[in-house]
Amino acid sequence: SNFLVAIDGPAGSGKSTIAKLLSERLGFNHLDTGAMYRAIGVYLDSKGFTPDNVPDEELEKIDMQYVNGELYLNGEKVREEVIRSAKAGQLASSFAVVPKVREKLTQLQRRICEGGNFVVEGRDIGTVVLPHAQVKIFLTASFDERVKRRAEELKSKGIELPLEEVARQIEERDKRDSSRDLAPLKPAQDAIVIDTTAKSVEQVLEEVIEIINR
Ligand code: C5P
Repeated sequence: SNFLVAIDGPAGSGKSTIAKLLSERLGFNHLDTGAMYRAIGVYLDSKGFTPDNVPDEELEKIDMQYVNGELYLNGEKVREEVIRSAKAGQLASSFAVVPKVREKLTQLQRRICEGGNFVVEGRDIGTVVLPHAQVKIFLTASFDERVKRRAEELKSKGIELPLEEVARQIEERDKRDSSRDLAPLKPAQDAIVIDTTAKSVEQVLEEVIEIINR
């Protein structure tokens, strides 16, 4: 049967970097559930819907597939340029508070994972989506470190923002992700928590691989 590794944590915890490298090392598929929230947020917004008005029929019509490492929404490839903007991040987190949107994406994520071995990154993978995952990792880092990493990530994309602005964005995202009623951000009871603050990417990766092998 298939092997599933759940990697959860807040923005700037190193989740995406570790999930991607880990999937390459293990030869597993990599599912970025944040990308799914971003894609559905952008899609619903483009159709004129808001978080307090998402018709059931609209959600029923949505399908997402994972083919050769790429996500598709109703047959159309989900494009990085579209989902990685700050606007898309805001849309993702505002639609992510809607229970039926979470239920829909949870179903899609479970179905995708039936298709093979996966490293799945997100916020509620170990707690809600895949409570039976063989390995659950929860990455954390200090607030200042997460702000620094996010600022560097933005800079590498050509976006330079004052640290205070990045800090404000992360604070707002944290608040929204941890205060919602459904699937608040927290480690699963059987998750292994790794504080990545003073660790290199390679160190964290080795630690995770050791956990998987034991
Ligand atoms: O990880 P990323 O920044 O791409 O996620 C965007 C937003 O999508 C998060 O801030 C969060 O609100 C939402 N999300 C979620 N559950 C997940 C993944 C992402 O609620 N499993």
